[in-house]
Amino acid sequence: MTGSGPPLREDLAELVGYHSPEVDVDVRLNTNESPYPPPPAFVDAAADTARRIVYNRYPDREARALRAEIAASLGVGADSVWAANGSNEVIQVLLLAFGGPGRRALVFTPTYSMHTKIAEATATAVVAEARDGDFRVDAAAVTAACARHRPDVVFFCSPNNPTGTLDPLDAVAAAASDPERLVVVDEAYGEFCDETAIGMVPTRPNVVVVRTMSKAWSMPAVRLGYLVAPPAVVRALAPAHLPYHLSAFTQEAGRLALGFHAEMRTRVALVREERGRVYAELSALDGVRVWPSAANFLFFEVAGASPGLADSVWEGLVARSVLVRNFASLPATPGCLRVTVGTHEENTRFLAALRDSLVDAGA
Ligand SMILES: *Cc1c(COP(=O)(O)O)cnc(C)c1O
Repeated sequence: MTGSGPPLREDLAELVGYHSPEVDVDVRLNTNESPYPPPPAFVDAAADTARRIVYNRYPDREARALRAEIAASLGVGADSVWAANGSNEVIQVLLLAFGGPGRRALVFTPTYSMHTKIAEATATAVVAEARDGDFRVDAAAVTAACARHRPDVVFFCSPNNPTGTLDPLDAVAAAASDPERLVVVDEAYGEFCDETAIGMVPTRPNVVVVRTMSKAWSMPAVRLGYLVAPPAVVRALAPAHLPYHLSAFTQEAGRLALGFHAEMRTRVALVREERGRVYAELSALDGVRVWPSAANFLFFEVAGASPGLADSVWEGLVARSVLVRNFASLPATPGCLRVTVGTHEENTRFLAALRDSLVDAGA
């Protein structure tokens, strides 16, 4: 007998996975990667490490050395840090432990779509509240949303992807006022700004900050993210994650990367300087509205009469071999595009291509 195969879990059947077009272009400014590779000395050391790994043995299940070194770099205790294969896995394990059937997560949209997608995959219900016209949340709105939805988990994203907005610490504190509610602050772009919720962790039982080595640290290929949380929250994750989830190479690569902190700061400074230039140039363009950003990308609206204008501009950019991320068709972000800050040359090429695409599209 032939059939259509095993039926997918019913609550997942209607959902779609993460989708971001992968187009072959010269200038890739669509996934908020660093335009700079890590230093050659890191790559050499990583290659040496790969030779020294004891391949017939399991890695340290607790990743103790890595966690201690991350903790030291942040000035927190080693029992407050936990690491996994990218911050998305960190979030997945948080939701397996603190979300799940019968529990609810609150997000403030527009925001990082993976918070919702991972919640759905872990059978955690999702409720969404809209950010204000400038994509901000404030403490009063958070308090009201928490009273309305009684969420078990609240997600902040600061700086927020895709808008670049900072979520204020008093809004985080408002969500955390109920100690039984887990409050997750995704700081994937935390190195690009001057604000962090890490300082809130030691004094609260329920605030978790999630960070990644995929952006400022220039190593998304390695897949390494971590969280800073109260030790009791870290311990509570144990039943929810797989044993030996973090490979020996990943652990060692993370430790090596931490030795190049100054180089990371230098890359971040270059990106911040370019962010200022691209922001100024976008602000000066007719028909474009750009929001201030605390991250390594800029969010802008191609304001115009026709609803398809932003799509035409996006296509115009692709035709000029520049790829940005198109948010224009999402209800919360009509006409909006997001551009990653690249090298000086890439940004110059983007700006020229945008000017031409705007003209072609009749903006
Ligand atoms: C890029 C990004 C991440 C990174 O995910 P990894 O799994 O660590 O590569 C996490 N959160 C946000 C908001 C991001 O934009």
